[in-house]
Amino acid sequence: MNTRRKFLQKLGASALALAFIPELSPASSTDPGKPRAGDQPTDVPYDGPVLRVAIMGLGNYGGIVARAMQDCRKARLVGVISGTPSKIKNWQAKYNIPDKNCYNYENFDAIRNNPDIDAVYVITPNALHHDEVIRVAKAGKHVICEKPMAINAKEGQEMVDACKAAGVKLLIGYRMHFEPKTLEIIRMRKAGELGRIMFFQGLSGFTIGDPGQWRLNKALSGGGSMMDIGIYSVNGSRYMVGENPIWVTAEETKTNPQKFREGVDETIQFQFGFPGGAVASCLSTYAMNDLDRFFLDGTGGYAELLPATGYGPIQGRTSRGPLNQPHVTHQTVQMEEMSDIILQGKQPIVPVDGEEGVKDMKIIDAIYEAVRTGRKIELKW
Ligand code: NAD
Repeated sequence: MNTRRKFLQKLGASALALAFIPELSPASSTDPGKPRAGDQPTDVPYDGPVLRVAIMGLGNYGGIVARAMQDCRKARLVGVISGTPSKIKNWQAKYNIPDKNCYNYENFDAIRNNPDIDAVYVITPNALHHDEVIRVAKAGKHVICEKPMAINAKEGQEMVDACKAAGVKLLIGYRMHFEPKTLEIIRMRKAGELGRIMFFQGLSGFTIGDPGQWRLNKALSGGGSMMDIGIYSVNGSRYMVGENPIWVTAEETKTNPQKFREGVDETIQFQFGFPGGAVASCLSTYAMNDLDRFFLDGTGGYAELLPATGYGPIQGRTSRGPLNQPHVTHQTVQMEEMSDIILQGKQPIVPVDGEEGVKDMKIIDAIYEAVRTGRKIELKW
């Protein structure tokens, strides 16, 4: 196994990071002022509204988002919320963040009195999202929340309701919803170029490292591979097929019960049926590497993404030929688009709102129920 991969597995970074972690690649090192290949064009002057964002949770992915935001024109990192004073200091120095925009987990409700922050991006362990998002909403700020939005649909719905009640927007960090090759397949499917959709395959997995990390602690993760990486196939099946599944079956395999304790799934195979007659066959795992593939088959052709959901470059082809859309820095484009959604009411091609997150949680609840009971679970929408 190569040293870089070993290092990343030790860190416990996600599969996405394992394969494509951009900050470890010299080619993508941040050099403010110089646009990188694939970034949003910066030659067109922009004088529209700018979303001023505070990041909560200064861990691995928070760092990736912060770096990507340096290339945004419509979104700007202006604040942080962290329990670790030394991290706050480092981020302040790196991103020029004033003291008045720095909070910890005890005092961040005071963000309500800060007119210089529009939105908080919650990038903490999964099980914390629910309470944190609701606190941010009550403080009157828009919320962007990482996937999975919560650890079940009930919590997700409570978050949606709290944001509605507070009159703020809730968006989920579904970066693939803005990725050009993904969007091209969605366009082809909508235009009928793939015919009637019959089948989707989603493979999502990586070999997870350090057994002590929060991803393997149910109290913080809410589950195992399904919550962390399987959710990409759950979510992807919906935007690829263009429907929500109406039944779910699922089976779990556990080869290492010491590492993957009760409630922390190692590998789950799951199947969906869609109202139009399509079926899906997917795998979510923490025990195999190089699993990041989407395959969509219709009566008129096929589309494949391999890799499908890493940080990129995403690669793809269809029965009509290779997909040549440019590589973009996912988090840069996501934050540009989210600025437009929050500040200008833009409607994205694939929704990223809280309701969209709840749909995935509802399906994940059904997958876990199918594993527990061995039954086929019907889903009503
Ligand atoms: P991480 O462990 O690197 O960072 C988590 C951060 O939360 C750390 O800074 C940690 O100090 C902080 N934290 C706050 N309260 C904590 C507590 N009680 N216990 C543990 N840590 C606590 O994790 P990460 O990889 O940055 O993941 C964070 C979130 O981002 C997860 O929900 C994950 O699913 C999501 N994520 C999304 C993507 C994506 O591509 N969209 C990629 C990676 C992670």
